[in-house]
Parts: sequence; structure tokens; C-alpha cells
Amino acid sequence: MKLETELTSIDRDLIAAATEGFVPARVIDFHAHVVHPDFYAAEFISPALRGKIIDFSTYVAAIQQFLPQRSIDGALVFPYPTRRDDRPGVNRWMFADLKNAAKTHSVAGLALVGPGDDQALIAEWFTAGQCVGLKPYHLFAKPGDTLQCGVEEYAPEWMWRLCDQHRGILMLHLVKDAAALHPDNQEALLRLAKKYPACQVILAHAGRSFNHRNTRGLAALAGLANIFVDTSAITEAESLKIALATLGPARVFFGTDYPVCHFRGRCVTAGNSAQWIYADDLGNPAMTLVGIESLLSLRRAAEDLGLNAADIQRIFYDNAQAMLRFGAR
Ligand SMILES: [Zn+2]
Repeated sequence: MKLETELTSIDRDLIAAATEGFVPARVIDFHAHVVHPDFYAAEFISPALRGKIIDFSTYVAAIQQFLPQRSIDGALVFPYPTRRDDRPGVNRWMFADLKNAAKTHSVAGLALVGPGDDQALIAEWFTAGQCVGLKPYHLFAKPGDTLQCGVEEYAPEWMWRLCDQHRGILMLHLVKDAAALHPDNQEALLRLAKKYPACQVILAHAGRSFNHRNTRGLAALAGLANIFVDTSAITEAESLKIALATLGPARVFFGTDYPVCHFRGRCVTAGNSAQWIYADDLGNPAMTLVGIESLLSLRRAAEDLGLNAADIQRIFYDNAQAMLRFGAR
């Protein structure tokens, strides 16, 4: 697996198929990562990213590759999580980078946070306008296997309270094998989203719907108006179709998950699991980028559901602009 920087002719043909007549002229990406080697332990990051500095300008140039003739107006940005991040360090580096990026783009940052982090410091970042929300991650919950953690093990109540106080975004990457379909995840999300109604809960990857059989779990959550999803890194049209049908296009945000979108591969439903497959491992040069597969999947889902131009505009731009209040700045 490597971070691709060049497109193949197959990529270009599929980009045309994914974007022409579908992706609007202006786009805001609701799920983008930055990376800096000073703030992670090298053994815990994918070799594909090791040693690379990905700041906002690197990110936006890469995204422009697969959204030609579109203006990437802005993004919701947060550091790429690895097991041993220097979280205050990487957050401060990102805030400085976004301050610079704000001269040319509409940008907002989420602070990478773990359960034991300094709450007063994080509250200061909100108050100073440096972050608009939080990005917890299961790897920060405890040592060992964290893939079956409950929501509050990696996103304890203080994070919900803080987001509620600031009308902030809580970007959640659900774990447990059944993701949005797991009753424990549903119970925690319903209880906490109801208790903290100004906390804007974004379930990343359509509620971590890499296995499309789990996406129907979103139906249990649809009644709470502060629960949303992003489309990032989902390469199954069925997942996005169910998410759009369940929540409606006003609660779905386009996201790329850069740098993940620039790996050549896709993630497919496989029995009761999801399987990442990569071109390098298979020796298959005809495969395309995760981000292009994801756009093709989103287009297929939108067309199957008969979404109109206003709906598409919401997914790629209006929803993000409204939540991040770019228009008001
Ligand atoms: Zn991500």
C-alpha cells in the first residue's frame, strides 16, 4: 500500500465517470487529515505515511487531482490518529497551519483527543476559536485491542459536554464489529446525543459502514436531529444508499478521508466483516483510488435514490457550510 501521487489513465476515466454532471462546482470536504512525523511514534503509523508531512496545502493539492475543475473551497481537518500521538503537539501544529490556510480557504479544525487528556486546555482551544470540535479515536482508549470498545471508553461524557457547550462537532469512528447496528453503540448514542442536543455528532464513514449490512443500524438513530454521517472512504454504494435513504441528504456530508482516499484499493463487505483490498498486495494495476471508488459509490447511491441537484449540492457543500458557519465568518 502506498500513497499515490500520480493518476493512471484508468483513474482519469473513472474520475470522469464519477464527477461529470454530478459533483458541483464548489466542494467542502468534511473529513480530511493532516500528518506530521514530529508527533507520532514511527512504528505506529502506516509505512505509506511514515516520514511524510501532510499539511493543508499538500492535502488540497492532492484532492484537486480527483476533483478537476472543482473549487475545493474548504475542509474540516483533524490530525491522522495513531496509537501514540503527541496530541497537544499535533493539534497546535495543525491550528497554526489552518490559521495560514484560512487566508485562502474556509477551514475548521477538530482537536485529536483521548479520554485522559487535559480538559481545561481543550476548552481553551474551543474558546480561542482554534477548534470547532473533537476527534476521539478508539486507539486512545486503552492498550491492547480497542476494536470492541464501547462509545464512552474512547468518547467519555466530558467530550460530549464540551461539544454541547460550544455547539461543537464530535467526530465518532464507531467500533465493535456491528458498528451502527450494535445495540450497545445505539444505546450510548441515543442517550448521549439526547442529553447533549447541541453536540453535533458526525458518525464517520456512514457510521463505519464498511460492511453495508451494518448501515441499517442508522435507522435506530435517525430520530435524533443532531446525528449525521460523512461519506468518507466508503466504497460500497449500498452503504451510502441506506445512509441517504435513512437520514436524508441534509444529514450526509461528503468527505475524502485524505490520505486514505489516495491509497489504491477499496473496502468490501465480506460476510460479517469488511475487507480492505489493495492493488499493491494483489498486483492489480487496474484498480483505482479509494477516493475515486467512494465518489463512484456516492454517485450510484444518489442516482438510485433519484436525488436532485439541490440534494447533491447539500451533500458536497451546503450542509458543511451551514454547520461550520463559514458564511457567518
Ligand atoms: Zn479518517
